[in-house]
Amino acid sequence: MFAEAEKVIPGGVNSPVRAFKGVGGTPIFVKEAKGAYLYDEDGNRLIDYINSWGPMILGHAHEPVVNAVIEKAKKGTSFGMPTEIETKIAELAVSMVPNIDKIRFVNSGTEACMSAVRLARGYTGKDKIIKFAGCYHGHSDSFLIQAGSGASTFGTPNSPGVTKGTAKDTLLAQYNNIDNVKALIEANKGKIACIIIEPVAGNMGCIPPKEGFLQGLRTLCDENDMLLIFDEVMTGFRLAKGGAQELYGINADIVCFGKVIGGGLPVGAFAARNEIMNYLAPLGPVYQAGTLSGNPLAMAAGLAMLTELNTNPEVFKRLEDKTAYLHEGIAKVLTENSITHTINRVGSMISVHFDEADVVDFDTAAKGNNDTFKKFFHGMLNAGVYIAPSAFETWFITDALSYEDLDFTIEAVKKVATAL
Ligand SMILES: *Cc1c(COP(=O)(O)O)cnc(C)c1O
Repeated sequence: MFAEAEKVIPGGVNSPVRAFKGVGGTPIFVKEAKGAYLYDEDGNRLIDYINSWGPMILGHAHEPVVNAVIEKAKKGTSFGMPTEIETKIAELAVSMVPNIDKIRFVNSGTEACMSAVRLARGYTGKDKIIKFAGCYHGHSDSFLIQAGSGASTFGTPNSPGVTKGTAKDTLLAQYNNIDNVKALIEANKGKIACIIIEPVAGNMGCIPPKEGFLQGLRTLCDENDMLLIFDEVMTGFRLAKGGAQELYGINADIVCFGKVIGGGLPVGAFAARNEIMNYLAPLGPVYQAGTLSGNPLAMAAGLAMLTELNTNPEVFKRLEDKTAYLHEGIAKVLTENSITHTINRVGSMISVHFDEADVVDFDTAAKGNNDTFKKFFHGMLNAGVYIAPSAFETWFITDALSYEDLDFTIEAVKKVATAL
């Protein structure tokens, strides 16, 4: 199948990290998935720790979501006209997330971040932005400057095709280093529209913000007329109902969503207080649009997913408990086998790094032993556990995982550890 795909799709995949370039070998083709399990085209069952890179927080083919999509599809899949369900999901999202009055739906996390930055630039009348090395905000030009994830796996932090003109407006800071951010602001006084950040980084493994770091950014933004953009495409509706804003008690000015908010369909969104959102067309001068934005299928999936999370908020604690259990189990096995490692975890995001030092930013994430990771990845795969095919990715824990699944995973680590 991969050989056939390679003939007609560049690299055989529609998103680079799927191609296994970071770990070697050829990708797994999925036939179907249910709950915590993937079933591949060769008939293997795999416990899934990627979950479509985050969206399937309640497991694959979750019934309320699937049924909502089926029922909606029967009534037409897109109109390019307003529908009531768009208001319903917007009301729910606004009620769950702190500090937002209005939300605009788009089709991907990339679009959400790209549009959020345009809005920040339009609103502040300034051009430059600060992003952090190793943070990924989708593949739009301004962000392909030391992006994490797929871009890091391939060692092409700067993509050809991004013009110098665009690159010069993106200032690069080191994650968790507030002095570095201060210096950038000092050197570019009055020219910076916004700081965009993953409040918990998830595209260089999982990296938590150091105590006071996010608050420091908030203060710097207030002092310098800059907007703080939280890219919560990964953390939104995952770390808490209200995402990282709620978890850390910090308000951002614009928040970006994707992944969970679409329940597995192509959805992104960005949201802010009225005075900022009213700057968007058709109310304001900043243009942003989409033929399929807010289409009924995507909204039905998203609404069903958010409704599940909103009415069962204990799910976030349950996810955290499962992730902590996994963390302890894996750490114990690796320690018993004298394998150098660091494990990072926030809520239901976790990453295993084969390095002794603390992993706090892109440089320390990049120091991990990639050969060990490759062996680990393929060993786990052989044992029936699918983790991300790159050392720069977070594992996403789903509520569909049972403690038996977690024990199975820890046993798999045991098998692999003796071979590492
Ligand atoms: C996945 C991701 C994006 C991009 O979303 P797409 O839907 O893949 O375009 C942006 N920001 C973060 C933090 C992400 O994890």
